[in-house]
Amino acid sequence: MQLTLDLEGREVLVTGSEHAARQAVRRFEAAGAVVYRLTTPRGADGDGQLPERPFLVAAVDDGQPGWEPLLRRCREAGIPVATEPAAGPAGHVTLVGGGPGALDLLTVGAINALRDADVVFYDRLAPYQELARLTSAELVDVGKRPGHHKVTQRDIEKLMVDAALAGNNVVRLKGGDPYVFGRGGEEVAACVDAGVPVRVVSGVTSAISVPAAAGIPVTHREVSHMFTVVSGHAPLTEDEHTHLAGLGGTIVVLMGIGTLPQLAAGLRRAGMRPDMPMAVVERGYRPGQRTTISDLGNIVTASSGCSNPAVLVIGEVVRVAEANLNHAGAAAHLDRLAASLLEA
Ligand code: SAH
Repeated sequence: MQLTLDLEGREVLVTGSEHAARQAVRRFEAAGAVVYRLTTPRGADGDGQLPERPFLVAAVDDGQPGWEPLLRRCREAGIPVATEPAAGPAGHVTLVGGGPGALDLLTVGAINALRDADVVFYDRLAPYQELARLTSAELVDVGKRPGHHKVTQRDIEKLMVDAALAGNNVVRLKGGDPYVFGRGGEEVAACVDAGVPVRVVSGVTSAISVPAAAGIPVTHREVSHMFTVVSGHAPLTEDEHTHLAGLGGTIVVLMGIGTLPQLAAGLRRAGMRPDMPMAVVERGYRPGQRTTISDLGNIVTASSGCSNPAVLVIGEVVRVAEANLNHAGAAAHLDRLAASLLEA
């Protein structure tokens, strides 16, 4: 059950040890409540700091015996008691894949890790706009510093490790999946080197989900039975162009806008047909999502106004999307026609 209460200025008594209750305290403070603390059941009698009649008692299950009499008295007095589990063990890092940017493409694992975090390091491609709703953790943008300098990878790793060693539950939130061009492997290695426990929550990668947002299936029966995901960060070698062109499956390119002219020319030299369908899907699942459909021979001109973040798709599967879109377009047209006939 999830309830939303207006707690602004309300007195909330949070019971439970410092460690177990730290996230509950942060959450109630963030909601504007006046938070009072009771860290041991023994403090229940005679502590002048406690409110006479709190609006709510949040009882964190910290494993200490002896809370029950106090909670029973509160209930008998008609004070609502909300119980919640203790915050998990601290001092570890969770690398979380945040998906392509849509809240409903976050995994349950991602939501749970965010909820349990003390500090979240996120960057530009992560679904950061929603973070304040999902966690009471401190939010640190490592995509850029106040002075607009990018935080280096080494700095990010040090920040994560230091925060975990200081006893925090650290979430490193990344766009898509942490292990797809996400430097997740390096961040795991940095934690392991520092002796910090680390785990990875996989995410929905943009390599599959962004084409899907444009109606493009990366595989389709009798059209393409494989897909290759390539980084366009740096131009490919001639050998790589030849191998890619020879595979005959779908090619998905991330970070590929800057090197698109070299890729298109390289695939042409490797013998790929100029009428091979291509699509550029920009800003998947975000405001301004846009799909540009063309073919290998014309894509450079057709995509001249395109910018990152974008996913390129090369292959016959692009036609599947076109056919579906035309179908959907035709259906919408028939709907409009039927509506206008009914009105007439
Ligand atoms: N780990 C990420 C990829 C990081 S590389 C993942 O699994 O999705 C960054 C590239 O991902 C961008 O340059 C772009 O090519 C792609 N990308 C990520 N999110 C995107 C989005 N919402 N729309 C379009 N492209 C996206």
